[in-house]
Amino acid sequence: MSAAFREALIDLAAVQANVAHLRSLIGTRHTMAVVKANGYGHGAVPVARAALAGGADWLGVADLDEALALRAAGIDAPLLAWLHGPDSDFTAGISADIDLGLSSAVQVRQAADAALSVGRTASVQIKIETGLNRNGVDEADWAEVFRLAAAFERVGRLRVRGVFSHLANTSPADDEAALLSFDRGLAAAAAAGLTVDLAHLASTAAALRLPAARHSMVRLGIGIYGQSPFDDADSAALGLIPAMTLRGRVAAVRQVAAGAGVSYDYLWRAAADTTLALIPLGYADGVPRQAMNAAFVAIGGVQHPVVGRIAMDQFLVDVGAAPVAVGDDVVLFGDPATGAPSAAEWGAAAGTINYDIVTRVGARVPRRYVGAPADGAAPDAAASSPAAGAPGSAESTDAESVGE
Ligand SMILES: *Cc1c(COP(=O)(O)O)cnc(C)c1O
Repeated sequence: MSAAFREALIDLAAVQANVAHLRSLIGTRHTMAVVKANGYGHGAVPVARAALAGGADWLGVADLDEALALRAAGIDAPLLAWLHGPDSDFTAGISADIDLGLSSAVQVRQAADAALSVGRTASVQIKIETGLNRNGVDEADWAEVFRLAAAFERVGRLRVRGVFSHLANTSPADDEAALLSFDRGLAAAAAAGLTVDLAHLASTAAALRLPAARHSMVRLGIGIYGQSPFDDADSAALGLIPAMTLRGRVAAVRQVAAGAGVSYDYLWRAAADTTLALIPLGYADGVPRQAMNAAFVAIGGVQHPVVGRIAMDQFLVDVGAAPVAVGDDVVLFGDPATGAPSAAEWGAAAGTINYDIVTRVGARVPRRYVGAPADGAAPDAAASSPAAGAPGSAESTDAESVGE
């Protein structure tokens, strides 16, 4: 067992297996692994390597800084970044062979200008608006933007490699409307003379449940981390292995008498004499303060309730009569198959979602990696190797400790 005071244990074999499993279910020609936001808190670089080993052939991030960090780490897989500020440095992106996701005529011109100054053709993908109302070109502007992009393509400044959009996952009817809109967008691109290699619309949820949304590529985020995007299916039901285990060690144990108030504001009081264990993670580490009196942790495989305010660095659990001692391992969340609470349960306790729970794990928590793919591993070689539900089994000589 780990002796870390607090850590996020990341099972890269689980990421690799999740990608391979999702690919086998989805079957698109291309698979993008989305590793934005530091790989949803798991670590973008190691997750990217594991996802590529699992068969992903594209990587996706939100912004160019994230993309450039992957390149700086030596990752040369096809890579798309789709969220840019007005001053984003497209020249750096083009020089680093990063596909630019473009959402407006202004961005198309900026990319073409940047391509000229770099002296290379920029590979771009046009994001179209189909109902989410975030970024993306409005339908009224499709013809103009596609014509502009096609003109730049003819003179070698741009290569329009893809057209993409993103779903709201609101209702089947809303998604159906978005799919039809996307089809109109693809037709508009073709009408403007563009021949795109990639059409993509689906993130994990639609990739799994809306086959019509798959097109030539899916963009898989939450699923590769072993978390479910659905309320009505957990990780195990989808055949996914949660890759992150957030854990620590009991820092103190204290007996308290019935009526004792616990933590700031005494928002929990002991109903009877009991024992409290102090857990050395707090909201600075991403433990949601809102989960007070609602979440659970596992100590020795037994779940105990979080009681009282969650503080910046620590919180308490009521362990009752359980034989808990200073130094015992505590799991906040991990793979429920091991008896741990899930990230989704923490999400429910905090009024949020599993995405938020894993992504918010703070910079003070060291990430420790196990199950890293061997260099040059064949894409599907390890697809079935990690034992589901036994993340510890992947701990091996290739385990390495990596801090922030
Ligand atoms: C984050 C994101 C994804 C991945 O979504 P998941 O639900 O995590 O699979 C895909 N596409 C875009 C544009 C995103 O921003």
